[in-house]
Amino acid sequence: MDVKTCSKCKVTKPLTARHWQRDSCNATGWHSQCKTCRREYDRRRDAVRGTRLSRRLAKAADTANARARAAGVPGTLSGLILSGKLTEQNGRCYWCHCRLGSFHVDHKKPLGTAFFCGDNSPDNVCIACPDCNASKAGQPLASWLSRLAERGIRHELQPADMPVQAKLPLPEFNRLKRLTKFLALGLLG
Ligand SMILES: [Zn+2]
Ligand SMILES: [Zn+2]
Repeated sequence: MDVKTCSKCKVTKPLTARHWQRDSCNATGWHSQCKTCRREYDRRRDAVRGTRLSRRLAKAADTANARARAAGVPGTLSGLILSGKLTEQNGRCYWCHCRLGSFHVDHKKPLGTAFFCGDNSPDNVCIACPDCNASKAGQPLASWLSRLAERGIRHELQPADMPVQAKLPLPEFNRLKRLTKFLALGLLG
């Protein structure tokens, strides 16, 4: 029986599919490392990728939270919430469904603008590709989606895409309150 020595652990094992993985890129037709070493390599690589991803997600949550605070709107995100979104979306962009490499936290209704009243709650957040995030910015959702459809990308509009928000964001509310007070004084005076 043919045998082969692993380039990593240096153990010689029978050259069968039980111990070795086929590798068409390798001249011998087999991987240079035994299956045990390959599995260990994959496990470590996944662990490193996992930590890197959770760090990126935590950072993205921090950024979104800071933007929300600056805009005076409620809602707090965490890396865990964003990681759940990513799983829900099968690692794909919420809008165009492309497989995500780099990603952006997208507020379905833009954050805190008087017209859209978007908050920073998990319901108002999805994970989008950089292209979608940039091209959607500042545009009404319906017209942007129709432009997406023109490029052959279909996103069925969901009720969750337009979360209902009863309350006005705080700055808008305060401005309105000042305005009504001012008008009332004007009328009385
Ligand atoms: Zn080995
Ligand atoms: Zn996209």
